[in-house]
Amino acid sequence: MKDLKDENELLLETIKKFMADEIYPHEEAVDKLGYVPTEIANQIETKSKEIGLFAANLPIEVGGGGLDYESMALVEREYGKTSHALHSWIARPTEILLACNEEQKEQYLYPCVKGEKRELFALTEPDAGSDIMSMRSNAKKDGDDWILNGSKHFISGPCLPDFAIVFAATGEDQTARGSRKRITAFLVDVGTKGFDIQEGTKCISYKGYKNFQLSFNDVRLPSDKILGEEGNGLLLSGKWLGMGRIWVGATCCGKAERILDLATDWAANRKQFGKPIGAFQATGFKLADMKMNLRAADLLVEDAVLRASKGIMQDQDAAIVKVFCSEMLNKVADDTVQIFGGMGLMEEMPIERLWRDSRLERIWDGTSEIQRHIITRAMLRPLGA
Ligand SMILES: Cc1cc2nc3c(=O)[nH]c(=O)nc-3n(C[C@H](O)[C@H](O)[C@H](O)COP(=O)(O)OP(=O)(O)OC[C@H]3O[C@@H](n4cnc5c(N)ncnc54)[C@H](O)[C@@H]3O)c2cc1C
Repeated sequence: MKDLKDENELLLETIKKFMADEIYPHEEAVDKLGYVPTEIANQIETKSKEIGLFAANLPIEVGGGGLDYESMALVEREYGKTSHALHSWIARPTEILLACNEEQKEQYLYPCVKGEKRELFALTEPDAGSDIMSMRSNAKKDGDDWILNGSKHFISGPCLPDFAIVFAATGEDQTARGSRKRITAFLVDVGTKGFDIQEGTKCISYKGYKNFQLSFNDVRLPSDKILGEEGNGLLLSGKWLGMGRIWVGATCCGKAERILDLATDWAANRKQFGKPIGAFQATGFKLADMKMNLRAADLLVEDAVLRASKGIMQDQDAAIVKVFCSEMLNKVADDTVQIFGGMGLMEEMPIERLWRDSRLERIWDGTSEIQRHIITRAMLRPLGA
């Protein structure tokens, strides 16, 4: 136990130093430019490989860093303090790729672990966001091949990828709750005939982090482009989305801590009516509430990580973390703008950027409303409602 603690302390020290040296100095410029200059991206990639942070989430057997959930939560919490535009260059290839067969591992998984290839996770469509089962992307069997048609949007990553993990309906199953689309995950290489990828609209959160629109027009895919088995795409994505929501929770805690430090410092030093503004209860109590809610959010992440490590984490555990931590962060960010007064909205301060970045956290990886839906469903279904 002691060794593990020491290891995590060392890991935290390493990440904090890496962030201070390689990430924070570029935040402001990247936000203003709206892209990450290639030399900075390359430097982050190279240096993160040198210290073992690159692909740290994947098992050692496939060449990854082999960090367990507890360590990954520490890592993600630190990354959360900055922009996705920067920290996403320290790749954490999606764990779904562990479902690759041996040939696919050579073609997709190992190159991602080494940083030779980048992937996208493509689930959302223009007409199928929260209601993912209404997706129109579909693949039909043609001999031994599949013909993929449809489109995806808001599919994000640091750069133009080499391939996308694309979810499409490959049929319908009859279930006790009626007919249900059978969803399959495909590995689709950029450059495949009929697969078009374009950069999407610019987002005001995490400027410089890209999102793409994908369209598939009679894309012919051999059966060996199926990831896992036909029809188990939702099982794969569900497993990954669950942990993804916990990592969102951890990143929100990191960002909230950073913002709270700025708020505390400002409240202690900005004087009005002859006193630090923190001495007025209206401001001081905001700080106290932020501190309490951040502590609660951190404990929720810790609890979910423990459940995941024991293999007993359920969808609602991840949903609770996602909704609580992202809403906690948004309240912290908004109250901090208030504490800063007019200066909170000025570009010369980091607050407006952190506030803008925070907003996305309540939307991606499933909105707050969808998380609440998952939680209530878990409560009511056992009662037959
Ligand atoms: C910057 C960015 C990056 C992203 N990256 C990716 C990615 O890499 N891969 C990927 O697949 N997706 C990605 N997404 C998509 C993201 O997961 C979706 O935006 C999100 O799930 C919400 O879908 P939507 O935007 O279509 O909103 P909608 O589903 O249209 O929702 C609009 C509003 O209606 C509410 N609503 C919908 N249904 C219900 C309901 N049943 N009950 C109550 N309220 C409801 C929602 O909560 C929301 O408030 C990204 C999005 C953004 C903005």
